[in-house]
Amino acid sequence: MADFSTVTTVVGLLLALAGSWWLHGDLASEARLAGVVIVYLFGGIPVGWRALRALWRAHAFEIDLLMIVAAIAAAIVGASLDGAILLMLFSLSTTLENRAMGRARRAIEALMALRPETAFRKREDGTVEEIPASALSVGEVVILRPGARVPADGTIVSGHGSLDESTITGESMPVVKEPGAQVFEATVNLDGVLEVRVARTVEQSTVARMIALVTEAQAAKAPSEQFSAWFGQRYTIAVLAGSAVALGAFFWLGNSWETALYRAATMLVAASPCAVVISVPAAILSALSAAARGGVLFKGGAALETLAAVNVFAFDKTGTLTTGRAEVTGVVALDGNEERFLSTLASIEAHSEHHIAGALRREAAQRGLRTHAVRNVTALPSAGIVGEDEEGPLWAGNQHMLASMGASADETILRDFQEGAETIVYLGRGDRVLGAVSVADTLRDTSAEALTALRASGVTTILMMTGDRRSVALRIGRAVGVRDEEIHADMLPEDKVRLVGEVAQGKKVAFVGDGVNDAAALARADVGIAMGAAGSDVALQAADVALLSEDMGRLAAAHRLSKRTAAVIRQNLTFAIGAMLLLVGAAALFGLPLPFAVLGHEGGTVLVVLNGLRLLGDPIRRVSRT
Ligand code: ADP
Ligand code: MG
Repeated sequence: MADFSTVTTVVGLLLALAGSWWLHGDLASEARLAGVVIVYLFGGIPVGWRALRALWRAHAFEIDLLMIVAAIAAAIVGASLDGAILLMLFSLSTTLENRAMGRARRAIEALMALRPETAFRKREDGTVEEIPASALSVGEVVILRPGARVPADGTIVSGHGSLDESTITGESMPVVKEPGAQVFEATVNLDGVLEVRVARTVEQSTVARMIALVTEAQAAKAPSEQFSAWFGQRYTIAVLAGSAVALGAFFWLGNSWETALYRAATMLVAASPCAVVISVPAAILSALSAAARGGVLFKGGAALETLAAVNVFAFDKTGTLTTGRAEVTGVVALDGNEERFLSTLASIEAHSEHHIAGALRREAAQRGLRTHAVRNVTALPSAGIVGEDEEGPLWAGNQHMLASMGASADETILRDFQEGAETIVYLGRGDRVLGAVSVADTLRDTSAEALTALRASGVTTILMMTGDRRSVALRIGRAVGVRDEEIHADMLPEDKVRLVGEVAQGKKVAFVGDGVNDAAALARADVGIAMGAAGSDVALQAADVALLSEDMGRLAAAHRLSKRTAAVIRQNLTFAIGAMLLLVGAAALFGLPLPFAVLGHEGGTVLVVLNGLRLLGDPIRRVSRT
């Protein structure tokens, strides 16, 4: 509709111009009149209607109001062709603006279309039925044929093949998966036939959460957006009042009232803040969607703006700098019965969501060990887990846990174990230690590179905060390029919060984490960044940004994008305000003709929008490839 009226307006203006410049006689004045009337109808009525509606409904003075007042003033003083030029260009730039902004928005909304409608559910008897994806419940098994979209988040129970997860992670390389691996709704199963056990209902899936995040993001305005909206409002009123004063002044200076009105209308157009108002949202929306396509979701423009100012990054270790896909490297059972020891450990760890627990369970499963029931289980973040079985109370955890149980690990065999630089999990009953397991986690292969990139783009301090012991922390930290004095080990969740709070005095801090034990620190930091798809829900809730890709390089890219966005916003505001001052000066002092004021004004608006759109160019993905 908007497009249609804009096109009509353009045609009308061409007719009017033909009438003034090329045609002669009666035909000329008729063509001119008809053209101007068309432009005023198709260009002016929508603008006037929007202006009145805003005034009526929200008592808001929109820029539309300025434009329609200027066009009417032009018509009154017999400069209706100038008014028509104004309306045509305004209509054209509004349409262009809407299209550009729509493009930025649609990049994200496309996600919704990718969610499959139906799923193939496997019945008890092995037969398969097609049901709506929304009817799936947790624990059911669905069959995925090659080429099918995954209908729900789940775990592969049989079959293997590669999946295209670009919708979730932005990663274009297919990922090979086998039984036990997680798959996500809306990703594509490329080649294998897979059986997947549903882990989350469709309403709670990763994609559903992403869509919710993005919806929130669009509602939450960045500070500079708020500023430009606020500014637009006040300024519009000021321009109206200022033009009235200018009208009086021009008249008083000896102009005829027609000239005075024409010049006042020119000033009104020159002083209109279109470019100022659109410059911030154009940049922010473009950046948000570029980031989203690269697998980095910002919960709002505010997070994007704050990230640009961040100069301290604090990282959690396990599951953030490392992959969290840990492996058991050594087992010490003090009574010599390794199998019974491991099966007891796996039994209590069956209740934990921690990466380490997963490693312990896998080890027990690989050795074909059975587990037994453990009740009254409580997880103690950054320490371990406690519960009880038939034989009595039971605990598993690190040195904190050991100490709090009054137990000690003085046996030589355990001491030898501690010499190494691997994570150690003790298992015990009360103050009696049953044994220990060492677990090695693998470094995320993109971590070191990402930290270097962050330092290169002006981050002064990178901290590592972990609940693990110092020797492990030092080994991992050194491998990814964190300096020894930047490493903080043996931290409980509250220590992380305290340290983040201390650093945040005078500096802007981002905290990057994945676990339940990171949630408070994520919330405390100026910008909380959660490791998305594989991270815990609590972390995702507490964070301002979700990193859905496994590639840590995206974080560095997102940081750079946020800085570029801040720069584009500065450029846009400087340019918009500068151009406005220039036009107003020219209108006030040199009698700038109305069409030039219009051209400068609309041209400036289109320029700032285009400048903002540059950010759409997917810098996040490009950076990570190099
Ligand atoms: P990070 O801060 O590096 O992500 P966490 O704070 O999650 O690490 O965990 C710190 C330490 O607490 C682990 O290294 C481990 O020793 C211990 N721990 C936490 N949860 C468990 C668990 N479920 N079982 C055994 N040990 C655990
Ligand atoms: Mg962690």
